[in-house]
Formats: sequence, structure tokens, C-alpha cells
Amino acid sequence: MTKNYLKLQFYSLPQNQAFARDAVAAFCLELNPTVSDLSDVKTAVSEAVTNCTVHAYRGNLGIITVECEVEDDRIHIKISDTGKGIPDVEKAVQPFYTTLPDDERSGMGFTIMQTFMDEFRVNSVQGEGTVVYMVKCFKPEVENA
Ligand code: ATP
Ligand code: MG
Repeated sequence: MTKNYLKLQFYSLPQNQAFARDAVAAFCLELNPTVSDLSDVKTAVSEAVTNCTVHAYRGNLGIITVECEVEDDRIHIKISDTGKGIPDVEKAVQPFYTTLPDDERSGMGFTIMQTFMDEFRVNSVQGEGTVVYMVKCFKPEVENA
């Protein structure tokens, strides 16, 4: 069977964060996610897209690409930018690590993505950009006895 696939490209404007989050959520609906699983995906996508706007393109306009693919009961999500990149990914994914403490960033975006999703990986090249890859597995709703 053909695996459903979605590709979105949009400017790194803050108003597109909600759009991207809701578009991915709508794409997930064919998998009958629970409210809780869908909310996890929306939060993770918001964090990744926000990072592109705030960090990758900081003050400049760039293109953010969101790709989703359905595989059985799971969704693969790839969020990419061609911004400044991350010099040390291992450090950046640590809880409370932020390069913008003065902007009241808490350094929890990557930790949230990692916690809310079933798989999480970051690839980044300084000066070329960053790719965040995540998978969410939609488990069937647990019925109350
Ligand atoms: P918060 O998400 O809590 O508002 P934050 O964005 O600083 O704060 P994370 O989302 O965990 O925290 O990101 C950690 C750090 O990784 C950022 O401070 C930034 O230095 C770097 N980073 C994250 N995403 C990108 C990106 N797409 N491009 C460049 N740097 C990034
Ligand atoms: Mg963040």
C-alpha cells in the first residue's frame, strides 16, 4: 500500500508555527491517534519549528521544511532548516542548555521533543543547517475497565 507523505515549506515567520503544528496534526488523523499522542506530536513539532525561527535563522527570513511519512501505526517527521547549524549537538540536546538565556529561553525544546516522541535524532552542520528527525508510534486507545 502507498505510504502517505506530506511536504510543507514555509517562511520562518512566527505565525507559521501554529500552521505547521496543526497541518501535521491533521495529517496524523488517518492513524486515529489518541488526544494525548496527537498533543505530543503538536508540541514536538512546535518546538522544532520554533527553533528554526529563533535559532537557525535568527532575525533573517529562511525556509523551513517539514516532511511527514506514515508507516503502519507510526509517523516519521523531518524538520529541516538551512540556517546557522549547531556546533555541538550532544551539548545542545542536554536539558536546560540554551545559547539564548537572555531571551528567556529555558533550553528545554530538545528535551521535550525527546520525551514526547518515540524516536528523536538531530543532524547538524555548522553554516549549512539542521535536521530534526522524530517518530511517533500511535498506540491504540486503552479502554477503561
Ligand atoms: P526553549 O526551547 O526552551 O525555548 P532553546 O530553544 O534554547 O530554549 P532547545 O530547543 O533545547 O532550547 O535548543 C537548545 C539549543 O540548541 C538552542 O539554544 C540553540 O543554541 C540550539 N538550536 C536548537 N535548534 C537549532 C536550530 N534549528 N538551528 C540552530 N541552533 C539550534
Ligand atoms: Mg527551543
